[in-house]
Amino acid sequence: MEQTLPFSIIENRDAPAMPSNLKIINRFNILKCFRDGMSHTVGEVSAITGISKNTSMRAVHFFCERGILVTQGKIYQGTLGGKYPEIFKLNIMKYILDITLWPHLVCFSLMDFCGNVVRRADYEAVKIRSLSVAEINKFLLEETVAILEEEGITKEDVYGIWISTAGNIDYTNNRIKYNTQAPEWGSNVSLLDSLKEYFDRDTKIFLENGGKTIARAFLRRPEVGNKRVLTITTDGGIAGCFMQDGKIVSGRTSLIGEIGHMIIDEKDWEKCNCGSYGCLERMVDIKRIRHNLKNSKIPETSRLNTIPLEELTLRQLFEIAGEGDETAKGCVTYLADCFALALRNILLVFDPELVAFVGDYAHAGSYFNQRMKDKLKEFKYCADDALSDILYEKKSMVELDNSGAAIAVADYYFNDMKIYEGG
Ligand SMILES: [Zn+2]
Repeated sequence: MEQTLPFSIIENRDAPAMPSNLKIINRFNILKCFRDGMSHTVGEVSAITGISKNTSMRAVHFFCERGILVTQGKIYQGTLGGKYPEIFKLNIMKYILDITLWPHLVCFSLMDFCGNVVRRADYEAVKIRSLSVAEINKFLLEETVAILEEEGITKEDVYGIWISTAGNIDYTNNRIKYNTQAPEWGSNVSLLDSLKEYFDRDTKIFLENGGKTIARAFLRRPEVGNKRVLTITTDGGIAGCFMQDGKIVSGRTSLIGEIGHMIIDEKDWEKCNCGSYGCLERMVDIKRIRHNLKNSKIPETSRLNTIPLEELTLRQLFEIAGEGDETAKGCVTYLADCFALALRNILLVFDPELVAFVGDYAHAGSYFNQRMKDKLKEFKYCADDALSDILYEKKSMVELDNSGAAIAVADYYFNDMKIYEGG
């Protein structure tokens, strides 16, 4: 049976300093195999980790005795010549709440400890953005209490809460330094006060940038490993996250990754909320495409005419371009050229091995991909082999946000060396 490891063995930024004790390292890597929430046999765990069956068995029993794993009995596996191996599963009944607080999307996702969503509540993003910071604090607490009540769980059942937001985070005090998507909030914004007051001190409460939350879902993929990776999230603004050696690169001001504010054309007419002109985020926004189309003559035969311009979405534009519509293709050419210019500049300072598009641009299609690569090749340093692998991730941004949040919160449990000691 082919096994895939749910989490990369490679550590990330939040990984603990690993002890030199081999028994504890083995236990750590064995327990990691169960973080997918699925049932596993000792044989599977041994095959995934390369740790001997005997050692794996002892470790699994160690966790069963402590109630961290639980046996599910023996199952018949025809492939093993009629053997009945015992299967085990993670047994942590705590919940994780991911509060997605983005300019275009606000939702609360209550998850089990493996990141499976058990309840979700959606809210109208526009209304929430117009609230004051005090009102947001009130909203966060009220809706958190409501979702726990609906699910019939107590606040003690919640292991951790993760708030995923736009803007750059000051990690020294867990506040938003500034959010260009909600400038009315001002700077040095605290969103955690009401939740911290309500929950016990044991409950972990985090604030993180949305792009970096999503990046955490990528970071643990085996194919990402130690590579130099750039993820580009494209819904509700453009954000990036750079990763290297299994870690997120953030920087002193946590501005690294804010590629939406990379200047593509300083002579551009539109002023960004960051104070500059010609930011990538403004140049590749659907509002810019609508503006450009409004000022151009669309041929009568174009399917673009069937959609009111003010309602046109990027996904519709990509779909129509994919049908061969020349006007739509012209727009996509412009967008691909903007991203090629941004990537050209990024290559000079980071040189990613893998670039992953997430959100609307993950659906940009083969024409966008080819045009962007062709444009990049005009840059003479950019020989074929210098081009990064480009991945178009079709999972929705909120799904990835949930995964990233669940992984990061659960890490605080799994990275606590106390659970591996003794026995
Ligand atoms: Zn900007």
